[in-house]
Amino acid sequence: MELFDTATKTHREVQLGEQALIYVCGITPYDAAHLGHAFTFLTYDLLQRRLQDLGTNVRVARNITDVDEPMYTKANELGMHYLDLTHQEVTEFQRMMRTLNLLDPDAEPRPSQHIPAITDSVKELLQGGFAYNLDGDIYFDIAASPRFASVSGYPESLMRGFSAMRGGDLQRPGKRQPLDFLLWRSIADPRDPAAWATSLGRGRPGWHIECSVMSYVHLGPTIDIHGGGSDLIFPHHECENAQSTALGRDPYVKHWMHTAPLLMGGEKMSKSLGNLVFVRDLLADNDAAAVRIALLRYHYRTGGEWQPDLLPEAHQLLARITHALKQPAGPDPRPHLARIREALDHDLDAPAAVRHLSDMTDAICCGGTVPGAADGLGEALHLLGIELAAG
Ligand SMILES: [Zn+2]
Repeated sequence: MELFDTATKTHREVQLGEQALIYVCGITPYDAAHLGHAFTFLTYDLLQRRLQDLGTNVRVARNITDVDEPMYTKANELGMHYLDLTHQEVTEFQRMMRTLNLLDPDAEPRPSQHIPAITDSVKELLQGGFAYNLDGDIYFDIAASPRFASVSGYPESLMRGFSAMRGGDLQRPGKRQPLDFLLWRSIADPRDPAAWATSLGRGRPGWHIECSVMSYVHLGPTIDIHGGGSDLIFPHHECENAQSTALGRDPYVKHWMHTAPLLMGGEKMSKSLGNLVFVRDLLADNDAAAVRIALLRYHYRTGGEWQPDLLPEAHQLLARITHALKQPAGPDPRPHLARIREALDHDLDAPAAVRHLSDMTDAICCGGTVPGAADGLGEALHLLGIELAAG
């Protein structure tokens, strides 16, 4: 199987051992699951299914960022404790992903449950000369890392631009370099609920360190495939890689895989733009399998404008599939199955796989002499995670 690798900007064969370790950056749970989330996580679900189909034992960790500034703001607005808000949103998110027939991750780690391991790693970075203290806060010193910029390959000007857009504090006086990033924030305000009393003092972790630490705890020092949305390439994954390699986990990631956004009105779906399409709203009017098929019509590296017309088309395909599954005989399913697998092995080309599934369905409906051809269709549906509604 060949996948595009962000760090080398090439399609590369995935080196498969008996086990594939996959880490996916998950959600910050302060809003309901939207279609952009579903598209991202469906990509890794499809990857997992094909790897398992190849006989690989796959272990997936997908984190939940429950230590994040906007969470406290939203919880305050709602008059809730932020951990109660987290629980509510995570439960809803998990329900939506299961309804879309996504496999549960093997681990769903949260930084709030890994504070001692995080502070140990921050201390190790300080002792190793990769970090420094600034008025009680601790920053990573990018000049000490030979790996910084090796994931994104971005020039410094672009990194500064993204950092400014995505919560960085380029201008803070006292930093050694503007792109040095926060590992630990000290919190003096006793009313702030998201602070822990630790050997580093009272405070909370920065954004990036959680994934370096939790991937190590749950998967070990080297990850086969690390995924997430393309907006995480910088700063999040760049910083994660710099931290982990500084901690001696080098290589940290063998294959970086990023999903393009789904758009609404030409813009990435985002809470701040108010252009979200919620999974629960689509599921109110559509079969979960139809929503899944509609999402599979987008290539993970292309994304694109969300087209609601894909839903009636998906329902039509499901009706044809239901009819085909009742046929006692059909053509040899093996060439069709081979084409679907080939599409997935070529950079997880889900749109091509769905086209081949549609062709296979039509071929079975046209008749043939091989008994049980519909079983091959069942195998294709299983591979793509398309589960027909009962009844
Ligand atoms: Zn992450």
